[in-house]
Amino acid sequence: MRYLSLGDTDEIAASCHHVTFGGTGLVLDAGMDPDLDGYAAVPPFELLRDRPVDHVVVTHAHHDHLGSLPVLTREVPHAHVHMSRPTALLAEMLLPSSARLQKRRIREGSSDAAPVFDVETAEALSYVYETHSLDTPFDLAGLKAEGPLAGTFYHAGHVLGAVGLLVEGYENGERRRLYYTSDTSVQPQTILPESDVPDGPVDVMLLESTLGADPEAERTTRKSEEKRLGREIQKVLGRGGVVLIPVFALGRSQDVLAMIDRFKRRGIVDADVPIYTAGSMRGVAEVYDKTRESTPRLDPDFEVYGVDQERYPRSQKKKNAALAKPGIFVLTSGMLFERTPSYDLAQQLVADERHGIFFVGYSKEGSPGERLQEAAATGGTMTFDDGPLPVRAQVERFRFSGHAHRRDLLTLVDRVQPRTIVLVHGETAAKEWMRDAIEEEYPDIEVIIPEQGQELEL
Ligand SMILES: [Zn+2]
Ligand SMILES: [Zn+2]
Repeated sequence: MRYLSLGDTDEIAASCHHVTFGGTGLVLDAGMDPDLDGYAAVPPFELLRDRPVDHVVVTHAHHDHLGSLPVLTREVPHAHVHMSRPTALLAEMLLPSSARLQKRRIREGSSDAAPVFDVETAEALSYVYETHSLDTPFDLAGLKAEGPLAGTFYHAGHVLGAVGLLVEGYENGERRRLYYTSDTSVQPQTILPESDVPDGPVDVMLLESTLGADPEAERTTRKSEEKRLGREIQKVLGRGGVVLIPVFALGRSQDVLAMIDRFKRRGIVDADVPIYTAGSMRGVAEVYDKTRESTPRLDPDFEVYGVDQERYPRSQKKKNAALAKPGIFVLTSGMLFERTPSYDLAQQLVADERHGIFFVGYSKEGSPGERLQEAAATGGTMTFDDGPLPVRAQVERFRFSGHAHRRDLLTLVDRVQPRTIVLVHGETAAKEWMRDAIEEEYPDIEVIIPEQGQELEL
């Protein structure tokens, strides 16, 4: 087996891997770096030119796993494209909306990078998606395959439609197995149950390591964090403030709405407090609801759209009216990136001590979300579009990751029993902690931290 990382290997940006397995070429994920524009955000697909690419598998619809798919399929138009059914429904919506956003940034002058694909291409692409159910093997053999090669999706528990991929087949006459966890949650979230993985052993495991350098994540439980979130929301609303919860459109936003719904039913939050949402998370919620009978759920009766919500107002006048009374704003982006509703609202709230800005997911280093949390902790200021502002609002971080914490990742190693682990999807410190911990607990496992563009023989 040969492995090549096309994506970034020292941070969490674009996910993309190439694997040659018994003569078949596979590309696993085709992500885009959410921090960058144009081709700088796209993995170096030119590295694929001398390599076979028979199949592309997209594990879930987050931008850092799916965003470059239209560029990749232009490079390898003959390759089959596989994903779960919910991921296909989400991609049909999210890729055209990404094309519209790329165009708009040029028009508004916030980017000078030409769009890397257009709306028509992104829409047309949805006709080539081959979708597969969980736990059901599908054909992945390429033109020059040595023998049969099968892929199987496992529920990853991360966001709707997210899967891990098992690949099984023959190489040099020997039966071999590879498992790619992609992003995975070993614990149940609010809507989705925990991940499922194949029983070991496998030859190679591509293991995510997002929370490898986060000791705090394994010390907190979702239950205690949910309780604390309810309590802090109650306090802010009680003093007449509003709460901003910055979220990712896919996953965290539906999870947060489900929690607020619970707070209302338990009387922690008044039933008539308005909840505002905006943008693609509303479309994503529809896909969650449409697939609630056909995909793994903790409670198939729960509907995200069953939670009363209003559209985040566009005009400043209506915004001011909404901000004048207690309310909860669940807005993208989760890391408070510039030119997004959460950034826009944070700027309006930050200098007023009545309000609360509550982070519920990961903010990468250097992102506005991380800078705001830093400024709040040190009593500093935060520079927004309109200049520096004192941080007086209550800024809190809650841990509701859709990723397994590092001790849970080790339990996956225990179950899947890999001979070799390739650590992916993490900052360098996270991967190093994972490597040291695995080497200590499982000295027989070979652990590799790959470099982008470096080919490994496994
Ligand atoms: Zn993800
Ligand atoms: Zn990811």
